Amino acid sequence: MRPRGRLGRVKLSLGSKEPRKRKRTVLAGGGRQPRKPRFARTPRRLIERDQLVQSRAEAEAVIADARKSHERLRQAIDLLPQGIVILDPEGRYVLWNKQYSEIYSKTADLFQEGARLEDTLRVGVARGDYPEAAGHEDEWIAERLKKLYEPGKRHEQTLSDGRVILIEERRTEDGGVVGLRVDITELKQREASFRLLFDGNPVPMIVCALDDECILGVNDAAIAHYGYSRAEFERLKIRSLQAFDSEPPWTVDRSDEEQAGRTWKHVKADGALIDLAIYSRELTYGERPAVLLALMDITERKRAEARLTFMAQHDGLTGLPNRNKLRQAVDEMLLHTRRSPEKVAVLMLGLDNFKSVNDTLGHAVGDKLLRGVAKRLRSTLREEDVLARLNSDEFAVVQSGLMRPEDAVGLAKRLLEAIADPYLLDGHSVVIGASIGIAMSPGDGEESEKLLKSAGMALSRAKLDARGSFAFFEAALDAKAQSRRKIEVELRDAIQNEVLRPYYQPLIDLSSGRITGFEALVRWPHAERGMISPAEFIPVAEETGLINPLGGLMLRRACLDAVTWPDDVRVAVNLSPLQFRSGNLLSMVTDALKHSGLPPRRLELEITETLLLEKSAQVLATLHALRALGVRISMDDFGTGYSSLSYLRSFPFDKIKIDQSFVRDLGANREAQAIIRSIVSLGKGLGVIITAEGVETEAELSCLRTEGCDEGQGFLFSKARPNAEIISLLAAQRGIDAADEDAALVA
Ligand code: C2E
Ligand code: MG
Ligand code: MG
Repeated sequence: MRPRGRLGRVKLSLGSKEPRKRKRTVLAGGGRQPRKPRFARTPRRLIERDQLVQSRAEAEAVIADARKSHERLRQAIDLLPQGIVILDPEGRYVLWNKQYSEIYSKTADLFQEGARLEDTLRVGVARGDYPEAAGHEDEWIAERLKKLYEPGKRHEQTLSDGRVILIEERRTEDGGVVGLRVDITELKQREASFRLLFDGNPVPMIVCALDDECILGVNDAAIAHYGYSRAEFERLKIRSLQAFDSEPPWTVDRSDEEQAGRTWKHVKADGALIDLAIYSRELTYGERPAVLLALMDITERKRAEARLTFMAQHDGLTGLPNRNKLRQAVDEMLLHTRRSPEKVAVLMLGLDNFKSVNDTLGHAVGDKLLRGVAKRLRSTLREEDVLARLNSDEFAVVQSGLMRPEDAVGLAKRLLEAIADPYLLDGHSVVIGASIGIAMSPGDGEESEKLLKSAGMALSRAKLDARGSFAFFEAALDAKAQSRRKIEVELRDAIQNEVLRPYYQPLIDLSSGRITGFEALVRWPHAERGMISPAEFIPVAEETGLINPLGGLMLRRACLDAVTWPDDVRVAVNLSPLQFRSGNLLSMVTDALKHSGLPPRRLELEITETLLLEKSAQVLATLHALRALGVRISMDDFGTGYSSLSYLRSFPFDKIKIDQSFVRDLGANREAQAIIRSIVSLGKGLGVIITAEGVETEAELSCLRTEGCDEGQGFLFSKARPNAEIISLLAAQRGIDAADEDAALVA
C-alpha cells in the first residue's frame, strides 16, 4: 500500500506548488468547491508550509519513483501474450500494453493517457473497424460501454479484418477497469471447421458432457439414424440410448486389446436395436469438458457375420448343426462330464437305401424325406441332446447325462421307431429304415474325433448285421481298422519297390498228368510278419485303389517269367473286378505282352463272378477286346456266386474253375459229386475246359478223373512256388516225359 499513500501526498504537494492552476482546473473540471488554502493564514500553518516546501525534493523523488514503477509495470505487461488495458473510473486510458495496440492497430494512434475509450470506439466505428456496429453505431457503442461497467462476463468482438477478439473485463478496487484481449481467430476457425465436420458428417455423432453424461449436441446423421429430434436428444443422457450396458462408452479403454473389438447395442426411437462400434475423443464443448462419440452402425456386418458363422456350422437343407458344430458340442459335453460318472454317447444313424429314393423319386423328394427324418428325430430327443446331419444320409445324436449303455439302447430304439413310419411325400408313401452305431465315452473315445470315429465304425457293423438294427462300438473293430491302415501304408511301399511278386502253382491235365500252365498268385514276403496271405491284403488293395498298380505289376512279372518257360506252358493271372473300372486294363495287358514278347495265347486271365454282377456294357466290351487279342478268359471260383449259370450266357469263357469248396465236399456228400458231374457236362456242351481247384487227396483226384474233369490244381500236385523252382519242376516233368517215351518205345 505504500506507493498509493505516497502518491496521495504527491497530489497534495502538487496542489501546493501550483495552487492557481489547480484551482482553475478543478473548477473547469466540474464546479466542485475549491479547497481553502488554510495554511496561509496562521504562523503555525506557515511552519507547516515550510515543512512542505522542505519535503518538495522528497516529493519529486517519490514522483520519479512512481514513474519508474509505472514504467516497470508497462514493461511487465508488454511481456504478456494477451492485450491488457487499464481504464480509470471515468473510462480513460491509464495503461495498455503493446499487444493491445497491435490488436486495435487501426485506432492505436488515438491511445494516450487520459483519452476516453468511448472516443476511440467512436473513431474506430467511423473508420469501419467494427463491422458489427454498421447501421446502428450509437446503440453498438452504448451496448459496448454498458458491458464495460457491468464487467466479469466474456464476450467476443469481430474486427473488420476478420479477427475475433475475446474480451474479459474486471472492475478494479478504485472503480476502474482492467481488460484482457485475446485474439481467438485461429481457435474460432478451428471451431468452425470442427462444426462443419461434425454437422455434415455422414457418421452419426454425439457430443456428451463428461460429468453428467447429458447429450450436448448431435449431428444430422445421428438425428436421421436414431429417429429422435434434436430437442429430444438434448433431453437424453447417453446411457438412455444403451440397451444393455451400464457404463458410458468412453470408459472403454481402446488400447486394451479385449476392449478394442467391443461393440454396443443401442435402442433407436422406434425401439429397434442396433449394433455399434463407438469411437470417443475428449474435447471442450463451449466451456464444458465433453466427449465426442462417433457411432459406427455395424448391425448389418454383425448380421452377415452371424449368418456366415451359422452357415459354417449348420447344414443348409435341414438347418441342423453340421459335423463341425457337432464336434464342438461333443467336446463341450465331454468337458462337462469329465469328473462325473455321467457318460456321453454318440449315436450315428445311417438311412438304409436312401440313394434308391433319390434315384427313383428324384432329389426333390429325397430332400423332403431328409427334412422329414430330421424333424422326427428332433422331436424324439430332449432339448439338451444335440442332433446333427453329417452327410447326405447320416445323422448323429449326442446324448448326455447317461449312466449305462442301456440308456443309449433305449434312445436308439425310439429313434428307429420314429423313422420307421411311412412318409407321405408328393403323393408317394415312402418307407425308409435306418441303422445306428453307438459309441460311449470314455471307453470308446475321450474326445469328439475319436468318439465320432468309433460311432462310425459301429454304424458300419450295424449295417452289416441287419438293416434296421443298432450296434455298439467294439475295440476289436478298431484294432482291425488300424491294422488295415498299417497294411495300406506298407502295401504301397511293397508295390513300389516290387517286394510283391508272383508264385506259381501248376495246372495239371488230368488225363495226361502233364503241366499245362501255372497260376500266378501274389506273394508278399514281409520283413516282420513273414509271408502275408493275399486274402489279407487284396481287399485292402481293392479298397484303396492299390489294386491297379498291384495288378499291373503281377501282369508284367508273370509275362516276363512265362516267356522263359516252354512254349506250350501257359500262365494264368488273376484280375480284380476293380481293374475293369480303371479304364486302362486293356493297355496294361497289351503292354505286358509286348514288353515281354509272350504270345497272347499263352496268357490266361482269371475273373470272378462278381465282375459280371454289374453286367455293364463296358466290362463286356473290355472282355471281348481282351479275347480279341488272343488272350484266354477263365471264370474263377465258379459256383460261389449268385447266378453263375446266367453268367456263362453273357460271355464265352475259355475255362471254368470249379471252386475248391465243391472239391472239398467230394468225399463227404453225394451232392457235391453230382454238381461236379453236371458242371463237367456243361463244359463239354459249351466246349469249355473245366478245372477243379484245391485238389488235395488222391481220392479227390480219382473222383474228378471219373467225372471226366479236364484239369486239376491243388496241393496234391504242388503248392505255389517261386519262379526259380518252376524251371526245375518243368525239367523234372520233361525227365518223366522222356522216361515215358522210352517206356513206350520199349513196349
Ligand atoms: P484263387 O484265384 O482262387 O487262387 C487259388 C487259391 O487257392 C490260392 O490261394 C491257392 O494258394 C489256394 N490253393 C491252391 N491249391 C489249394 C489246395 O489244395 N488247398 C487249399 N486249401 N488251397 C489251395 P492264395 O494264393 O492265398 O490266393 C487267394 C486268392 O487271392 C486267389 O484265389 C485270388 O482270388 C486272390 N489272388 C491271388 N493273387 C492275386 C493277384 O495277383 N491278383 C488278384 N486280383 N487276386 C489274386
Ligand atoms: Mg485264381
Ligand atoms: Mg479260385
